Amino acid sequence: MNMNRSMSVQSDKETQIELKVNSKQKRKMTRANARLKKIQRNFGWAAVLIPLFGSLFTVGLLPYTGINPVVVGLLVSMYVLTTFGLEVGFHRHFCHHAFQTTTAVRVILAILGSMAAVGHIIHWVSHHRSHHQDSDRPRDPHSPYLNTKGECFNTFYGFWHAHLGWFFESEFPNVLLAKDLLRDPVIVKVNQLYLFWVFLGFAIPAVLGGVFTGTWIGVWQGLLWGGFVRVFLVHHAFWSINSICHIYGSRPFNTGDRSTNNIWLAIPTLGESWHNNHHAFPNSAIVGLQWWQIDPSAWIIRVLKTMGLVWDVKVPTTAAIESKKVRVE
Ligand SMILES: [Zn+2]
Ligand SMILES: [Zn+2]
Repeated sequence: MNMNRSMSVQSDKETQIELKVNSKQKRKMTRANARLKKIQRNFGWAAVLIPLFGSLFTVGLLPYTGINPVVVGLLVSMYVLTTFGLEVGFHRHFCHHAFQTTTAVRVILAILGSMAAVGHIIHWVSHHRSHHQDSDRPRDPHSPYLNTKGECFNTFYGFWHAHLGWFFESEFPNVLLAKDLLRDPVIVKVNQLYLFWVFLGFAIPAVLGGVFTGTWIGVWQGLLWGGFVRVFLVHHAFWSINSICHIYGSRPFNTGDRSTNNIWLAIPTLGESWHNNHHAFPNSAIVGLQWWQIDPSAWIIRVLKTMGLVWDVKVPTTAAIESKKVRVE
């Protein structure tokens, strides 16, 4: 406990110094712009509150509406599809170029990821690349160890900041970090239509709920479970990667940051909770590097590769994996 406290004090001093040194660079890497920061803050309020109140309302209605296989099917299928869009598409393909694919698959993945309502693809990729560039260092937009004021690590505050507080506290990222996407007219179009894809993410389960049950109640249940509850669950699963997977869990690799692996988040995040593996090999299409590390996103990439829809799949060599392992003296 005391040791932790002295480590925190030490890292606080280091952080203050590093923040001063990096303040000029920080301005270059982020858009220190009050208007953009306000947009990000408003997005944060909407992303946190709308799915939360929608989910509470849905659960409150349970004694009257009950739950049925159609509702469960819509919730699970919409969760899996949009999370694949986010993890296979936004993250492994667009952010890290872990594999190459056709324009049609790129568009489908970008649309599915946008339906997860985590923000415009170009903003999301810019944020995530800035996280990797300065992971758990002052310019990291959502490190649990540092905040924009350079305060020392506090588990509760760090968890809050990394999970969702960063929407309200961090600077808007420099979108030039996603220069490759800005140069792609198809992805720019998908990016511009972001709100339409979010709307579609709510409309599709509502329509399917009505079609499968033949009732108006089915339409509402589809909207609530496949829309609001699904978005709430996807958001918190992915925000847990920033918070839980940088605080708790194992660190088999030397990554120079505090990223961790967590088995119990592997299924909800479709493989991204092997986050220490990911920070060790960010461009790898396979994040679950051991046979027992469940990585459904890697399964999908392998299936698409077998179908000839994906190629140049990047995977680290055994020697590279061995060289980054933490050595126990
Ligand atoms: Zn991370
Ligand atoms: Zn990443």
